[in-house]
Amino acid sequence: MNMRKERYRGTLPFALTQFGTSVLGAPLLYAPCKHKCKILAIAGIHGEEPETTFLLSRTLRLFAEPLQSTALILCANPDGMNLGTRGNARGVDLNRNFPTANWSSETTLSKATLESERVTELSPGSSPGSEPETKALVEIIRKLEPAEILSIHSPLACVDAPERTPLVSFLVKLSETEHKTDIGYPTPGSLGTWCGENSIHCVTWELPRLAPEILAQKFTEKLAHIFL
Ligand SMILES: [Zn+2]
Repeated sequence: MNMRKERYRGTLPFALTQFGTSVLGAPLLYAPCKHKCKILAIAGIHGEEPETTFLLSRTLRLFAEPLQSTALILCANPDGMNLGTRGNARGVDLNRNFPTANWSSETTLSKATLESERVTELSPGSSPGSEPETKALVEIIRKLEPAEILSIHSPLACVDAPERTPLVSFLVKLSETEHKTDIGYPTPGSLGTWCGENSIHCVTWELPRLAPEILAQKFTEKLAHIFL
């Protein structure tokens, strides 16, 4: 693995590629890989989870050149990140806006921490896949055809995936959390549900509730070894 010297790690090693545009006109960017994409890692689909973007960016910055078979989306919801909101600029939870068979127009509920109630209300969008960020994600996933998607969230501290693949086992061990095959409540229109309908194994990694710098310290070097 060609790693960068620490003094050069303050910037990204190469330019990212635009795959779409957000509601407010921000570029949606991804880091392509050299060969066929095995893993597509996605962070920042919820704007209130900036540590996911920080962790993925820190991991990418260890590398000196594009990765072999892992593509990365550092921030799937740049408007939400800019505003500090869970949803996008139209208040839509992008992770309930995917065009799945069970997409529902009902208000979605979410919780901020493991302990809290699911009381935060967000829109799932006006129709399945109504948001430009969701449409762009669907297009880039169809283009890259990854075998597995790693969707990074926080701070519920678990690994939610239908199957126990090597990636799931790795993340369970790395973050000392448990593997769940079901998050415990329905998630119509989620990326995970959409992946299931499209025969892509989706691993939702909920980071533990830790400061970004601690997450980076704990996880980046080891993550880099599976992002080859
Ligand atoms: Zn989330």
